[in-house]
Amino acid sequence: MSGDDNLVVGAGFSGAVIARLLAEKSNEKVTVIDKRAHIAGNSYDYRDESAIMIHKYGSHIFHTSNEKVWKFLRQFTDFNQYMHKVVAVIDGIHTTIPFNFNTLYDIFPQTLASRLEDKLLKFFDYNQKVPILEFLKQNDKDLKFLADYIYENVFLHYTTKQWGVAPMDVDGAVTARVPVYLSMDNRYFQDKYQGIPLNGYTTLIQNILNHKNIEVRLNTEFEHGLIDKFKRVFYTGSIDEFFNYKFGELPYRSVRFKMETYNMEYYQQNSVVNYPCNYDFTRIHEYKYYLNDKSDKTIIAKEYSESFILGKNDRYYPIPAPENNELYKKYAQEAELLKNIYFLGRLGDYKYYNMDKAVLRALELFEEVAG
Ligand SMILES: Cc1cc2nc3c(=O)[nH]c(=O)nc-3n(C[C@H](O)[C@H](O)[C@H](O)COP(=O)(O)OP(=O)(O)OC[C@H]3O[C@@H](n4cnc5c(N)ncnc54)[C@H](O)[C@@H]3O)c2cc1C
Repeated sequence: MSGDDNLVVGAGFSGAVIARLLAEKSNEKVTVIDKRAHIAGNSYDYRDESAIMIHKYGSHIFHTSNEKVWKFLRQFTDFNQYMHKVVAVIDGIHTTIPFNFNTLYDIFPQTLASRLEDKLLKFFDYNQKVPILEFLKQNDKDLKFLADYIYENVFLHYTTKQWGVAPMDVDGAVTARVPVYLSMDNRYFQDKYQGIPLNGYTTLIQNILNHKNIEVRLNTEFEHGLIDKFKRVFYTGSIDEFFNYKFGELPYRSVRFKMETYNMEYYQQNSVVNYPCNYDFTRIHEYKYYLNDKSDKTIIAKEYSESFILGKNDRYYPIPAPENNELYKKYAQEAELLKNIYFLGRLGDYKYYNMDKAVLRALELFEEVAG
């Protein structure tokens, strides 16, 4: 591989954005490598033979309130106005999650729902997202009932399926993700900007990478021998792998998708339906909703959560637990000693980033390093 100014390892959002900035703003040469046969990392999508856009690594919905991120991405794509909702099957009833006032009326008899609504508004402000743990602090029997109900029917089994551990063994940040939204807003995200890139994520990343100073090489695994050939290295792979697991492996959750095709217009009423209590899969994705694809077939994917095992499956979610964060810190300290090698992204920072946060991190790192 020829010596260039910059090597970027990984052609996902993080790698593509930093590569573009170096190529365009610093007018430097950039070589981007990815071990996979495609660009776009985990946001990779493709149209299958029934003309439906498939999100290979699970549903990806773009959402941000960050003006810088939005402005950057809008140079490379238009978005539709898709606003995500998540339906869950609870006690056999299809309803919206996170729990909001509509959910209360879907699930409970009217009188009970109305009492719970009054209680929630007595203790908390309208339009707030309140973690169920807060309900228990109020010493109120209705709020305790609601907290217990949500814990049991939404959180407990889903968390066990998703993380493979009991909820108390998962970091508080995850528990805090189970709020009740004191609102009638059924959207999953409240960000100002939401949508799906009109031509998909792969085309978006392709457009970001399309610059005369950028060369992309797929099916190319990072090797340490490459480091000396470049002025700088930006590494978006897993930081423990870079250091040859010298402090031990960083744990991840992995995911398996079982795709099914049906000769029908729609399989389910929503793009994503969660099954907190039933079945072994956590949720079912139905892809044609995202770009409103027209086809007499539909493609769904059942999502199964499983442990990440090196060499067997892919890394998906860093597992938020104090001991894992401690392990990550050891690697991060080691990384700080290296000159001209920068770690970023979901795997490089061992942090769950939504796509907008991955973009923001790359924008900020560029400012720090070369801006
Ligand atoms: C199931 C799931 C659903 C998600 N849904 C959403 C959503 O709805 N909305 C949202 O905003 N975000 C979502 N995300 C998060 C989103 O996927 C990330 O924000 C995004 O992938 C981060 O991009 P990245 O470039 O940091 O990492 P990745 O996309 O993982 O890219 C890293 C790239 O590096 C390559 N690589 C790694 N190691 C090496 C190596 N040694 N040599 C060469 N190449 C290497 C990999 O092959 C990969 O292509 C979801 C994530 C998951 C797991």
